[in-house]
Formats: sequence, C-alpha cells, structure tokens
Amino acid sequence: MLRRFFAFYWPYRGLFVLDFACAVLSGLLELGFPMAVKAFVDDLLPSGQWGLIVGASAALLAIYILNTALMATVTYWGHMLGINIETDMRRLAFSHIQKLSFRYFDNEKTGHLVGRLTKDLEEIGEVAHHGPEDLFIAIMTFVGALLLMLSINVELALLTAAIVPLTAWGTSRYGARMTDNFRSLFGRVGDFNTRIEENVGGIRVVQAFANEEHERTLFEKDNQNYRRTKLAAYRIMAASTSMSYMSMRLIQMVVMITGAYFVLSGSLSNGGFVSFLLLVGVFFRPVEKINSVIETYPKGIAGFRRFVELIDTEPDIADAPDAIEAPQFRGDIAFRSVGFGYIPEKPVLRGIDLDIKAGETIAFVGPSGAGKTTLCSLLPRFYDVNAGAITIDGHDIRSLTLASLRSQIGIVQQDVFLFGGSVRENIAYGRLGASDAEIMDAARRAKLDGVIAAMPQGLDTVIGERGVKLSGGQKQRLAIARMFLKNPPILILDEATSALDTETERAIQQSLGELSEGRTTLVIAHRLATIRDASRIVVVDASGIAEIGTHAELLRAGRGYARLYEAQFGQLGAAE
Ligand code: ADP
Ligand code: MG
Repeated sequence: MLRRFFAFYWPYRGLFVLDFACAVLSGLLELGFPMAVKAFVDDLLPSGQWGLIVGASAALLAIYILNTALMATVTYWGHMLGINIETDMRRLAFSHIQKLSFRYFDNEKTGHLVGRLTKDLEEIGEVAHHGPEDLFIAIMTFVGALLLMLSINVELALLTAAIVPLTAWGTSRYGARMTDNFRSLFGRVGDFNTRIEENVGGIRVVQAFANEEHERTLFEKDNQNYRRTKLAAYRIMAASTSMSYMSMRLIQMVVMITGAYFVLSGSLSNGGFVSFLLLVGVFFRPVEKINSVIETYPKGIAGFRRFVELIDTEPDIADAPDAIEAPQFRGDIAFRSVGFGYIPEKPVLRGIDLDIKAGETIAFVGPSGAGKTTLCSLLPRFYDVNAGAITIDGHDIRSLTLASLRSQIGIVQQDVFLFGGSVRENIAYGRLGASDAEIMDAARRAKLDGVIAAMPQGLDTVIGERGVKLSGGQKQRLAIARMFLKNPPILILDEATSALDTETERAIQQSLGELSEGRTTLVIAHRLATIRDASRIVVVDASGIAEIGTHAELLRAGRGYARLYEAQFGQLGAAE
C-alpha cells in the first residue's frame, strides 16, 4: 500500500527533495531559537551592553524572517506536490472507469463513482502535501529538542520525556477509530451524490408524480446519516484535541515547578530555565501534530484504499492478450450455441444458433423480456457469452480488439443518450473530428437538416442536458445522423422508433431504411408493420428461437408470428 502511494511521488522527486530540504532547514531554525534565547539571557543580558542586545535581537528577527520564507515555500511546494499527485490519480481513475464493463456499472452507483473521483482524491492530496516531510520534521524536532533539553538539564529532560509518551499513547489510540469513521463517511457522501444525481436527472419524473415529499424524506435520511457519522468523527477529534492541549499545559506546569526548584538550588541558569520552557513547546509540537495527522491521515488512507480498490477492479471484458485488429467487416455474423445470463445461474439465452449473411436485414420480435436486447448486446461484447461463440466474418469476436470491433458496430436505441453540448458535437460523436460538411451531409441524410436550419444558432445550438430541448423524433434523427457519420458495416436498431408516434415513426423508418442499406442490420421491433420487409424474421421467446423465416413464410406457417401479426394488425386497423 505504502509503496503504491509513494510510486505517485516518483515523477516529482525533484520538487520533493527541494521541499524536504527547506523543511529540514526550517526545523533546524526552530530548534536553534530556544538556544539563542538561552545565550541571550545568560550571557548577553548580564553584560548590559545595549548595542549588543539590540544587534542580537535584530539577528533573531532576521532568522525569523528567513524561517517564515522557508515555511511559505514548504507550504506552497508541498501543496504543489499534493495537487500534482491528486491530478495524476484522478486521470488514472477516470481512464480506468472508461475501461470497466457494463456489468460493473450495472452494480455501481454513479454518486459513489463521482465521490471516488472528487472527495476521496482531495483527501489523498491533503495527505500528500502534509506528507512524509511533515512526518520527518516532526521526528527531527522531537529528537532534536530532547537532545537540547538533555544538554541543559538531564533530570528535567528525563522527567519531561517520561510524561510525553503517556499523552502520545492517549492521542494515537484514536487513530484507528478515526480511519473507520472516515471510511464510512465517504460511503455517506456517495449515497448523497447518488441521490442528488438521480433527483436532478429525474426531476421531471419526480414532479410529474408530485413525489417531492417522498424524495425529501429519502434525502433527509441520507442527510441525517451523514450528519451522524460526521458528528461521531468530530466527537473523537474534540476529545483528542482537548486531551493533547491539557497534557501540554500539565507538562509545562511540571517543568515550571521542577525548573524553579533547580534554578533556586543553582543547578539551572535563568537562561537555561527560559530556554527549557521554550524547548518543551518545540518538543511537544510533534505530539500535537499527531492530532492533525490523526485527522488527515485516516481520511487520506481511507480515500487511497477506495482509489486502489477502483483501479484494481479488473474490467471483466478486455482485449485478449493476443487480440488482433479486426479487418474491415463484410458483415457475416454467426451465433454458435450461444448461452448467456446476467447471472450464470439464471440464463437469459440458451443454445442460440443463428447465421446472418452480410447485408441482410434480420428482425427480432418476441415478448418483452425475452432477451432480444441482450442478444444484440453480445455482439459488441458489452457482455461476453457464457457458452458457445459469436463470430463475425469467421473471427470469434473475443479474438478481436474491442476498439476495432465496436467501431464497426452501430447501435440506435429507443433511448438516445445525448450530451449537453451543441448539435454539432452530438452528431460528431459518431466520428470525432468530422468536418462541418460531413456533419451536415449526415444530418441531411437523417433528414435533420431542416430542424437544424430552423434552430437559432444552427449547428451551434446547445440542446440542453441529455438533449431535453429536442423532441423524441429529433433525438432519434440525431442518433441516425451520428450513425451515417460513423458508417459501420453492422447496424443494430433496438426499438429505435418504438417510443414515437405512428406518423413520426413512419418518417423515421424511411431514414432507417436508407441507413441500413449495404449493412448487416439487426432490427428489434415492437410494431411488426415496421419489419415486414426484413430478409428474415426471428421470433424469440423464453425458450429461445421459436421461428425463423420471411414475413410471408411465417404467416403461412400460422404459428406464433402469425398470431402476433393478426393481433397487431387488427389493432392497427382499428386505430387508423
Ligand atoms: P427484451 O429486449 O427482449 O425485452 P432484454 O434482453 O432486455 O429483453 O432482457 C432479457 C432479460 O434479462 C430480462 O429478464 C431482464 O430483466 C434481464 N436483464 C436485462 N438487462 C439486464 C441487466 N443489465 N442485468 C440483469 N438482468 C438484465
Ligand atoms: Mg429490449
């Protein structure tokens, strides 16, 4: 753990060494000051020479100024180190999240991930800049002060040294408890973030159901949980801070009385007495430091644990070590005895055998929950099959790199996910770096050009978070434009028009028809009217593939598809 932490220091070792040097120098000056005071009281004062006294004071002032500058430098460089390390970790965490597979996100809450990348890392940064150099200085001043105290008066020094461990033990006892506490505090922050995320994202649903009161109650529960956890942490902190304050005063009193006795009995000089009292402060500071260490280190350690946990999460879908770049696909797809379940004990697909020829449009129909979406999501390897294999042009898809596989498969779904930026950015997501001419061409083919022309800023129009400023049909057209730009040889249309009204659906169906030309297309359809022209239709039900054939063949067969069609066609006829 520690080694992994320090690995992040390595790129900044130069900065670290400089920072360290300044810190050491500052620590030495800190130790020198009480000794200077001793000389001042014992040697300079009795001489009564004002010139020397003023001169010495000026010299002390100069040392103070130097020390101030050193401390400022240490603070700045230390923080620079901290923020650099924090930035590196955040970059690493973010790029790791990008690699994690669907299964991970099925089970992880957004808010917790946001927390890991923000709050957790901030706490680690906090440790990184109050890091090892602070600890080193603490030890150095501790030992240094002890040696100096011994040189002034051995008995008094031993007495002081005997009491301090007692208080150190008292304060460090809290350390472990604090770590646990902060760990659960981070969990609370994650709960919080998740709830806020969901509520802001789903505010339209909340308000439409008038469930604000309900959401407030749920939120307040998280809010109170957070409050309780934090209060518990502060209770421990308050106890340990006040304990160390009290210990410090007690030690000072003991030194004062005992020191007074030694001065009166002649074994301690006045200067030694003053200097000793100052040294007790220097000696005790590292012990007090344990308190701030107790506060920041557990937070940082908890944060670092969570960070390591994240970057150690192996993506369950990744390039095989010997994966090859997929060649340009023709688009022959084969499912060979494919079995799959989100949890292996509960298979969704069993023994699926299916050959799809390049350029073919193949439709999947069947009851909701039968596994049509699941079947299609195996193709880009959002999930890996549990049994059997899927090949494209004869290549097992697991032998290809994910990037080369996925870049050749386009998916248009019912829910189009749009980003908050402009129309241009959202279309260009299909192929980053596409020129405006290419973007407009794709828009024209998706029949989105009219919409764009009517927009206040054309391509630069910002479409709101997740595209809230667009209608369902417009979002779908945007998704199609994206696909024209991406131009993949394999296309999956998963209920792409199911959410639209019949008229819009018919219009968009035409664009989808053009999009699927010359591509192997897998269409999942809800309304059978939209797939009559498919090369073949696959009827999927709970037991797997029930029927395969053309529309006419399946009607003639008079089984499930025929019944389904009859039912829908009857309904359609009544509606129109
Ligand atoms: P269809 O698209 O045919 O309506 P799906 O493929 O979406 O059906 O779902 C098939 C089954 O798998 C359903 O029982 C569904 O509850 C389950 N399922 C779908 N997605 C997930 C997921 N991410 N995790 C666990 N189970 C899932
Ligand atoms: Mg589905």
